[in-house]
Amino acid sequence: MPDDMATAVCRNPRTIVVKVGSNTLTDERGALNRRYIASLADQIADLMNDEVRVILVTSAAIAAGIEILGWKTRPSDIDSLQAAASIGQAALLDAYAAEFGRRGIPVGQILLTRYDLEHEKSYANARNAFERLMELGALPLVNENDATAVDEIRYGDNDTLAALVGKMIAAERVIFLTDVDGLYDANPARDPQARRIASLDHVDEELLAAAPEGESGSAIGSGGMRTKVQAAAMLLDCGIETVICDGRRGNIVRDCLGASVPGTVFSHKEDE
Ligand code: GLU
Repeated sequence: MPDDMATAVCRNPRTIVVKVGSNTLTDERGALNRRYIASLADQIADLMNDEVRVILVTSAAIAAGIEILGWKTRPSDIDSLQAAASIGQAALLDAYAAEFGRRGIPVGQILLTRYDLEHEKSYANARNAFERLMELGALPLVNENDATAVDEIRYGDNDTLAALVGKMIAAERVIFLTDVDGLYDANPARDPQARRIASLDHVDEELLAAAPEGESGSAIGSGGMRTKVQAAAMLLDCGIETVICDGRRGNIVRDCLGASVPGTVFSHKEDE
């Protein structure tokens, strides 16, 4: 990452990154949940009308492609994954553009690879594009460019990508909409005594080791609790807050900006 953005020195108030995962965006059959996309558009449009600057990092290109191609299972070869991502990304963009367009908000698609974020010129170009899109009142829509990012240069999960975008634009908060309502002190899928952690001001090795690697729901997404906690640690280091929360909960995006957040907040602030 270029040196100038290795640490965000100050945060842009009222600028947030929202990351939504594949499990949250798809239904039990693995199909793109258009009703959910509409509800997300309602919430984000509402915030944008209140002068909150939002960037949406969205997964589910591969899931949408698999649905369109009628495949029963996720392929493992890279060419098929790239083809699915390419077809699915078009459908994903279409769905968001239709919903946000209905609410008077243009969307601008930015597909990033690791290469873009590790080279000064492309990093600066991406940041300028984000800034201009937000200035214009558009919603930047981000995903990894899965069709061209082969294994060695792939993040593979959008959690890391969302954190890097948060740093790039010095966001105030990065919100992870996922299928669990936060980080637990034990794995809630296995331990009924597990309790949600409301807030954390640091991430240590023990916590990272305890965070389950895969998503708690079905195995469509590539991220998991661990990559989110790693992302939160990276963001804490530069003073950016992170929330991990249940993306299906009503009004969740606005609630994540309020005083009492229904999820896990990673912040240096003492009142959270
Ligand atoms: N970029 C992948 C997609 O859109 C998903 C990555 C992830 O699940 O975090 O399908």
